Amino acid sequence: MEGLAFQIYESLPRQGPGDNASTKKAFQKLVDLPKNPEILDIGSGTGTQTLELAKLSLGNITALDSHTPFIDILKYRVRESNLKKRIRCIVGDMTSMDFAEWKFDVIWSEGAAYNMGFENALKSWKTFLKPGGYLVVSELVWFKEELPDEIREYFLKEYPDMKHFEHIYSMVESAGYRMIDYFPLPSSSWWTDYYTSAEKKIVEMRHKYQGNKEAQSLFDSFHLEMDMHRKYSEYYGYGFYIMRK
Ligand code: SAH
Repeated sequence: MEGLAFQIYESLPRQGPGDNASTKKAFQKLVDLPKNPEILDIGSGTGTQTLELAKLSLGNITALDSHTPFIDILKYRVRESNLKKRIRCIVGDMTSMDFAEWKFDVIWSEGAAYNMGFENALKSWKTFLKPGGYLVVSELVWFKEELPDEIREYFLKEYPDMKHFEHIYSMVESAGYRMIDYFPLPSSSWWTDYYTSAEKKIVEMRHKYQGNKEAQSLFDSFHLEMDMHRKYSEYYGYGFYIMRK
């Protein structure tokens, strides 16, 4: 992400598609958790789902993100809440974490695993999960097999690794997890806390960066992404994968 893109993201309630109802729905699929589970939230961004997880559980949550300003915003939000005893916020890289083996009962990651590739994430994060622990990840997937050229070609550039949602199941099993559940995020979860706020911010920034070609082309690419979603949301979206080691 470039500097200006970060400026947009830092102003948003979430840095990717998601909503509290879906976080809750996924969390409710986890059975037999200890009373105070150890939870790791990878690629937390400014932590909307981190705070929700703290409300849903009596767990201790470690939120990790590589972008310091996101973690600073989350720290502020945690201080403002009454959850600070149970949430630890750290700047770190999801590809080189150094937690103890088998530390966590749950590893959670919304809209972030693609940064290292879903399959890599499954393999590399497993060592930090207790046997029987849960991995819960939301991932960008195709909902259909037959795709209009325009959207297929768009994602061939943007996310060439994108899979059909069902093709992920076998990947999960061969990485040594059991598939517990899957559900797609509703299309509204792209807009309410994400694109709608991003669109407003971009209008403001277009004005501020008038005449700056590089900035305008970044804004154009955001607009294109949103237009693609307006047009083709039945073909792709985020899927929540609930898996167990
Ligand atoms: N979970 C949040 C943020 C999703 S956006 C939400 O749903 O709102 C993806 C996040 O992954 C960003 O906050 C970005 O800073 C973070 N990220 C990208 N690469 C990373 C890496 N290598 N290690 C840790 N975090 C990373």
